[in-house]
Amino acid sequence: MASEWRASPLLPPSSKPATLVLDMDGTLLWPLTSDRLHISKRPGVDQFLKDMADIYELVLWTSAPSDYAANALRQLQCKGSEFSHLLSNMDFGADLTKDVTKLGRDLSKVVLVDDDRDLVPDHVVDNAIVIESYEGDNDDDCQLSNVAEILRKLAVSKDVRGELRKLRDDGALDHIEVYSDSDDDVLELDHNDDDFDK
Ligand SMILES: [Mg+2]
Repeated sequence: MASEWRASPLLPPSSKPATLVLDMDGTLLWPLTSDRLHISKRPGVDQFLKDMADIYELVLWTSAPSDYAANALRQLQCKGSEFSHLLSNMDFGADLTKDVTKLGRDLSKVVLVDDDRDLVPDHVVDNAIVIESYEGDNDDDCQLSNVAEILRKLAVSKDVRGELRKLRDDGALDHIEVYSDSDDDVLELDHNDDDFDK
């Protein structure tokens, strides 16, 4: 899959109406070994991927080397939760950011979920949801089920960017996003017991 990326910056056509780009480490899992042969799956990840694969084209975009990422992918994928593409930043130079404009998809239908705001270029911040990092040690983590609710709404929206802006302005993402950043200021949200469902 990664070789397809090396041949062209554009993904081949997809029959799915919307594309969900998912980060790997800290978002879907935590690597217990550097080769990712042993991972800690984020709570709820199996159901999350199955549910999202029904409504989105799934793309895994990671900064890990593609062969190591493939090790993790084999453990993540089960019937009904398949990713269409695996992209590794290691395959295309030093830029570790995830510029979804390069995918060759209609940007009104692309959502990126990542745990690292620094990897989201400012010009696509309205395509992104930055969630709290999972580091393998929190069995009560419920970020994926929280974000799935939002992603179901986005999948049927006309333009995910406008919808995300609106949800953010309305505070509907406060219990999901770690950072709210449409300018250059990175704001850490107040995670008190009332507004942070954990
Ligand atoms: Mg990450």
